[in-house]
Amino acid sequence: MTLFPELVDTVLGTSITGRAIQSGAIQVRTYNIRDFSKDKHRRVDDTPYGGGKGMLMMAPPIYDCYLHILEERKKDGFEGRSRVIYLSPKGTVLNQAKARELSESYDALTLLCGHYEGVDQRIIDEIVDEEISIGDFVLTGGEIPACILTDCVSRYIPGVLADSECYEKESFSDGLLEYPQYTRPYDFRGRTVPDVLISGHHKNIEQWREETSRLETEKNRPDLLT
Ligand code: SAM
Repeated sequence: MTLFPELVDTVLGTSITGRAIQSGAIQVRTYNIRDFSKDKHRRVDDTPYGGGKGMLMMAPPIYDCYLHILEERKKDGFEGRSRVIYLSPKGTVLNQAKARELSESYDALTLLCGHYEGVDQRIIDEIVDEEISIGDFVLTGGEIPACILTDCVSRYIPGVLADSECYEKESFSDGLLEYPQYTRPYDFRGRTVPDVLISGHHKNIEQWREETSRLETEKNRPDLLT
């Protein structure tokens, strides 16, 4: 649910998520909240009660948009587990474990993207199960956060990535950052590939990866080790 479906369609329609949509591994449907405005000028926002700067998205168009989605799902015979998420800087911060949990626990996620100063609290109280933030900073809208969440969750859906090993060995999956990686050429401006990686000795390679993974984490994200 968004005021800018074209933004979401463009981002998710590109590259790996785009191919996953094409192949049917995931399905992304965007709904323009403005289509559910009853105002003759298609307004969806108003000034906040009590004063203050900026505009707030009104509850009724979002609610009607949500009812439309439920109706559509009913027609489609969808009976899976679903969750409504409001992308918000006030939500719990997204991490890999959360993305995995969402991919395993639900068949459909309904994402609400705010804009302006956000949304009327009553729509959150009425339909939202969970608020998720993508980090401790404020963006102009929830579309990019929604794309980030969708991308991250999609990677756990069978058929999206070529091989589950792609995410099983990645940063955060085992609580550590990923080890450094190298590809051809062997020599780049005098910087050569670590000898162990061309040794063909799998046990040593594995050990080197574990050690460098720990070192990367100590250097960049010591908080993960605690
Ligand atoms: N007034 C709100 C506040 O102070 O918490 C910020 C509203 S923000 C300008 C507009 C919209 O962008 C929000 O409703 C939300 O959907 C989205 N947004 C902004 N930052 C976000 C973040 N870090 N994570 C997720 N969504 C975010």
